[in-house]
Amino acid sequence: MFRAPFSWVLCGRFHTIAAFYANGMLLTASIGCATSNTATSSERWAIALHGGAGTIEKNSPPETIAAYERSLQIALQVGRDVLAKKGTALDACTAVVRTLEEDPGFNAGVGAAFTADGTHELDACIMDGSTLACGAVAGVTTVKSPVMLARLVMTKTRFVLLSGAGAELFATQMGVARVPNSSFDTEKRRQMLEDWRKEQAAKASASISSSTTNALSYGTVGCVALDVSGNLAAATSTGGLTGKRWGRIGDAPIVGAGTYANNATCAVSCTGTGEQFMRHVVAKSVSDRMELAGHSLDHSARHLVFKTLKPDDGGLIAIDRVGNISMVFNGEGMFRGCANSAGRFEIAIWDEFLTSRPQ
Ligand code: ASP
Repeated sequence: MFRAPFSWVLCGRFHTIAAFYANGMLLTASIGCATSNTATSSERWAIALHGGAGTIEKNSPPETIAAYERSLQIALQVGRDVLAKKGTALDACTAVVRTLEEDPGFNAGVGAAFTADGTHELDACIMDGSTLACGAVAGVTTVKSPVMLARLVMTKTRFVLLSGAGAELFATQMGVARVPNSSFDTEKRRQMLEDWRKEQAAKASASISSSTTNALSYGTVGCVALDVSGNLAAATSTGGLTGKRWGRIGDAPIVGAGTYANNATCAVSCTGTGEQFMRHVVAKSVSDRMELAGHSLDHSARHLVFKTLKPDDGGLIAIDRVGNISMVFNGEGMFRGCANSAGRFEIAIWDEFLTSRPQ
């Protein structure tokens, strides 16, 4: 049963945010793209990005919140600039994800989660909706920009997914920028590893069931875009889950699970518990619901996030071929932002937009 929807007016435009209580559980979501993208198809573009479905506490220090707000704004501006200058959706997604990979606040590139062994293994994927060309890398350890390497897999090989040592060798052959694994370290993620280790130890000794808090657990970055030529693209990059081991690979580099783009339907980038997104092939399922059941982008995205996935599994961003945007999540929040050729430019962390927060 639904009750208590509410909304905000932002940036001079109407955008509806709702919090629904279903079966006693709070489900938050940004509902579709309420602003109409009135530009003609030849000049219409749209973009959405995420910085992960694990958020900071609402009562975090104002400077922490401001830093995330700034990071999201910078990345969104990068993507907006590419598209507004009639650049491609692929270039916009690459540029945005690269920017977020270099930002230590997010779990991708610098700031990546630590494995159980205290190292970093990075996954990334990119997909071109106009051709279904795609490239991905998994478990890379010294590649400065995994999304750039994924793009090279797409354009320079006949393969889709390269992993581990082979992907590193490919990086060497392509001459991409390399860095020591420790350059991805951040204090915040190290603390998360320590917390995770303590939790494991407590679990083992007390035989209690406990789980890592969702706060900041997920920080994958992603971008979806529609360019003025009507092409869609999606890209995702991640350090994966804190404490992962045994060469674990998440959903981000798995085409159709964490990343998907198809001009016929939509582009999708996911964040959350990768195993759930792989199990339910979430990104491709959003596309399938549009293609096979004729549902709208937002209806399809919400079905996957609220009906298929479990609470706190994560969320996704998606964009369709006419520029509708959907950003949905089933936990506390999701770092996100979107912009379009109609002038929309919005950043959010929880269920309200940061720009509406009292200063
Ligand atoms: N989906 C990512 C993974 O499971 C984690 C995240 O979204 O932060 O590897």
